[in-house]
Amino acid sequence: MKKAIVLGGGGFIGGHLGKRLKNEGYHVRIADIKNHEFWNHHEICHEFIKCDLTDPKAVELVITEGCDEVYQLAADMGGAGYIFTGENDANVMHNSALINLNVAKECVLKKVKKVFYSSSACMYPEHNQLDPDNPNCSEDSAYPANPDSEYGWEKLFSERLFLSFNRNYKLNVRIARFHNIFGPQGTWTGGKEKAPAAMMRKVAESSEGSEIEVWGDGLQTRSFLYVEECVEAVLRLMKSEFKEPVNIGSEEMVTINQLAKYAISISGKDLNIKNIQGEEFKTKYGFSCPTGVRGRNSDNKLYREKIGWEVSEPLLEGMKKTYSWIADQVNK
Ligand code: NAD
Repeated sequence: MKKAIVLGGGGFIGGHLGKRLKNEGYHVRIADIKNHEFWNHHEICHEFIKCDLTDPKAVELVITEGCDEVYQLAADMGGAGYIFTGENDANVMHNSALINLNVAKECVLKKVKKVFYSSSACMYPEHNQLDPDNPNCSEDSAYPANPDSEYGWEKLFSERLFLSFNRNYKLNVRIARFHNIFGPQGTWTGGKEKAPAAMMRKVAESSEGSEIEVWGDGLQTRSFLYVEECVEAVLRLMKSEFKEPVNIGSEEMVTINQLAKYAISISGKDLNIKNIQGEEFKTKYGFSCPTGVRGRNSDNKLYREKIGWEVSEPLLEGMKKTYSWIADQVNK
């Protein structure tokens, strides 16, 4: 039985990954600072260790000899309301960097055979993402670096950290830059949720004929990948020999207002969109509207070329599955 350790498996993507690995016959150990909110431990792993991975002693206990694969997804993160307001910058950088520093070192000491690191599209330079119709997120556009958030800078630092451990200690790494992953069993309320979940929650909570609030002018563009396709892409990357950072995302780019319209159409409700920004936003929330870059889309050319597979599910299909789950949560 192959042994996998999923760090951050109490979270959204890590939970889905643990579940999939367990179904594939792996022995799965999860470590996270919190329990999974929506799944019992036995559904996603064999062992669940609740601990703080910023503590090197905890990482020492979690990563043991004889482990085949470590999946490092633990990070202090959230949606735009968490990582783009500036209010959590110190914690985001400090906590996530500490986790990655501990993990990279421990994987070498314990001779882990393969390590996956989840980076983010937030590490791409802001200057290539000013045109909402034509963002450039090809892997080779990463430098000169200029991410628009400290979250992105930390991801870039940690990519380089894992690549350094590969060069100097032969740590066998795989690195993916995730682009907006969404789906059920993810954070959908409380301030750390991301745009698709927030949008679907607002729609599910709204009564017929009312309006939902969309942050910014709604013309900023993004792409969104359904979580099961993300997990499939991660497993295929792990099986490959490709060690450089590679995008995992969807190339189906939409405006944020289009995303809201999809959510509304799935619900079957008659709702209007209210875009909120500028002074109106600041007065209401007490901070500037955190919309991030103007445009972002995954560029999957390198993944297709090196791994030979591509994601295929249309955004609307993933949104239908996610909406029904979020509507259930809202109505609980
Ligand atoms: P998530 O917040 O649901 O999962 C991260 C998990 O890390 C959480 O369960 C959290 O409790 C855990 N964690 C945080 N600090 C910890 C600590 N000190 N010790 C132990 N556990 C700790 O986020 P997610 O959406 O599942 O993202 C997983 C990874 O993918 C993260 O590294 C994230 O930065 C990256 N990523 C996600 C997206 C996305 O769209 N969801 C996009 C780009 C990158």
